[in-house]
Amino acid sequence: MNRYAGIIVNNESVQVDKIFTYKIPEDLINKLKVGHRVKVPFGKGNRSIDGFILELYENCENVKGIKYISDICDDFTVLREEDVRLIKNMRERYLCTYLECIKVIIPTGITKGIRNKVKEVISIGNNLKDKFSKNPYLQIYEIVKENNGVYSKTEISNKFNVSLSSINTMIKHEFLLKGEEIVERFNNRSYSNYAEKRLNTEQEMVVNSILKSNRSMFLIHGITGSGKTEVYMNMVKHMINENKESIILVPEISLTPQMVERFKGRFGNDIAVFHSKLSDGERYDEWLRVKNKRVKVAIGARSAIFLPFDNLGMIVIDEEHEASYKSDSDPKYNAREVGELKCKIENCKLILGSATPSIETYYRCIKGEIELLTLKKRADGALLPDIQIVDMREELLRNNKSIFSKELYNGIDRALNNKEQIMLFLNRRGFSTFISCRQCGYVFQCDNCDISLTHHSSGNYLSCHYCGRKYPVRKVCPKCGSKYVKHFGVGTEKIEEEIKANFPSARVLRMDFDTTRKKNSYEYIYNTFKNGEADILVGTQMITKGLDFKNVTLVGVIAADLSLNLPDFRAGEKTFQLITQVSGRAGRGKKNGNVVVQTYNPDNYSIKYSSLNDYENFFKEEIGIRYNMNYPPFSKILSINISSKNENLLIKNIQKVGIILKNKLEKNNKINILGPCPCMLSKIKEYYRWQILIKGEFDMYVASAIKDIVYTNLQDSYSDIRISLDINSNNLL
Ligand code: ADP
Ligand code: ZN
Ligand code: ZN
Repeated sequence: MNRYAGIIVNNESVQVDKIFTYKIPEDLINKLKVGHRVKVPFGKGNRSIDGFILELYENCENVKGIKYISDICDDFTVLREEDVRLIKNMRERYLCTYLECIKVIIPTGITKGIRNKVKEVISIGNNLKDKFSKNPYLQIYEIVKENNGVYSKTEISNKFNVSLSSINTMIKHEFLLKGEEIVERFNNRSYSNYAEKRLNTEQEMVVNSILKSNRSMFLIHGITGSGKTEVYMNMVKHMINENKESIILVPEISLTPQMVERFKGRFGNDIAVFHSKLSDGERYDEWLRVKNKRVKVAIGARSAIFLPFDNLGMIVIDEEHEASYKSDSDPKYNAREVGELKCKIENCKLILGSATPSIETYYRCIKGEIELLTLKKRADGALLPDIQIVDMREELLRNNKSIFSKELYNGIDRALNNKEQIMLFLNRRGFSTFISCRQCGYVFQCDNCDISLTHHSSGNYLSCHYCGRKYPVRKVCPKCGSKYVKHFGVGTEKIEEEIKANFPSARVLRMDFDTTRKKNSYEYIYNTFKNGEADILVGTQMITKGLDFKNVTLVGVIAADLSLNLPDFRAGEKTFQLITQVSGRAGRGKKNGNVVVQTYNPDNYSIKYSSLNDYENFFKEEIGIRYNMNYPPFSKILSINISSKNENLLIKNIQKVGIILKNKLEKNNKINILGPCPCMLSKIKEYYRWQILIKGEFDMYVASAIKDIVYTNLQDSYSDIRISLDINSNNLL
């Protein structure tokens, strides 16, 4: 008999990140299971807070002063035993707290007290008699009989045009009864049928290999348009037939409309959809639909990996190379790694898919840890587009100062004349659009963040992309007073403007962070372009992935160099991925596609190999560089990032930690300590930022020792500084 429980309390402080033992009261002994949420008294004042049961014990050695659990919160367990194993594993791996792991697994709604949404519905009660056996009562009774327990009073009154007071009278005499119905908050809009396709030989081989293999991890390396989605859907069908469940992850929100359209169009509405734009209530309901076994398939962004399926057969991670699978808040998990952990814990298959696999994943295929499967042809027989590299330095020599090279301009003109669609890609992230003085070199920056400001022509203001602060446009340089203030680089807005100036009759749509903030705006832009109501789609990364528009024959990459010049060891990999992915949007229908890539570095290996569609050679060159420089996958990089509003306190503390770490780790010749030094973005929203990078080969024990050193030595300053530890972070800016 378990009389004690090991509990994580719902308190975010790092100091209480440990399992506390509580005694289970007599009446709950048979009820409580691992994973239950309970109320417990906590701290000196015995304040009542939520706790999560991670362990149960029969005996406890030190029972002096032990407190009792006060109550059980839900009639179901919010965590499964498998989740508890996952939590313990993630806490070590991602150097975070138990609570942070719990909170990423359960929907926020639970601790916030969100419950099912219920609606009052009317059903029939006693048979009508006496003076009620006539209209309007008779009519109302018949209506309710036909729609028993479906509508509320007002709905009946409005829909069938009957009097509300008559309904109330009938309720009073118990001829009608009030009841409650759970309303599920999710999008149950219907989608048109997405017919099943007969797999081609390549696709069939991939499916068969997965089904036959006794391995658990696979990479489908399939060129853009090779029909990976069809393979996933075929696998889902196999899983459903075996009564198993599937999770399909797609990168961030941007891909969901198309995927949802395809999956709901194929499998109907019984699919959970899980992404960051859902409200707390919607998340809770989708989570509960999974928990209550109402659905067998879930599609979603990163956090859908945690949905509580009980008989999980497979996890698909589409576009596995995507940076958005790594979380940048605690726990700083990577869905790919969590997928692998879940595979082991729940004994399911993990299928990664990409046209441009991450270097880490492909390297593991080479080493034989992941089974490599390839799709080399486009599924519907289309050809890969022709990719042309344009050297922008030569354009300048030819006196073309426009943002469009001659090739791209002519291509746009031709496509427009042929009534074909065009996609123009610009990676505006990074430091592309800055405003500076041509006379003295002054660059307009945000006072809070040390980041160059971006010009927004709609509204005519400058803004900081990190903190959002707005500044007025200035015509004169504040430093030297000259009037030669110029905009350098371009943003998506600028391209839209240039298109309108150069091709006034073209219908242009823009898709980027600014135009997709509202809940359904992405879907709106997607549908408008898909239905041919626009000729040109201008966009950022959002348009590079997955989208399948048949009438796009031209793709233009406005400035391939923007991603190449980021201070990041993954810059080459990211550039290869971006060019390949965005090129893959061209020529997906009957007509051939063309791609124009504009660059100032035409000889760079990632640009060269992406234009040749040569992943293998790109990989060889890149893995060589990683090896020589001792970058991942040959090492790990643990970044210790500390920020504070108080710069002196920050510097004093990080230097102290730096010295201690150097003393402890110096003897380990496989580890390099870089810094402490200010981050590339040395100030964000009034917070100064410094970092230490620890690069090398180290295991979880060393990482966890480093975590201890950092936290113990900064203990006195917890209230004034923020600490962030991240292993193999996506950006070290
Ligand atoms: P990927 O995800 O690999 O880029 P998609 O799954 O979007 O490719 O497929 C590209 C196109 O090929 C889609 O329009 C899809 O409907 C079509 N397709 C996929 N498989 C087949 C098939 N077996 N026969 C015919 N068309 C197919
Ligand atoms: Zn100046
Ligand atoms: Zn700012």
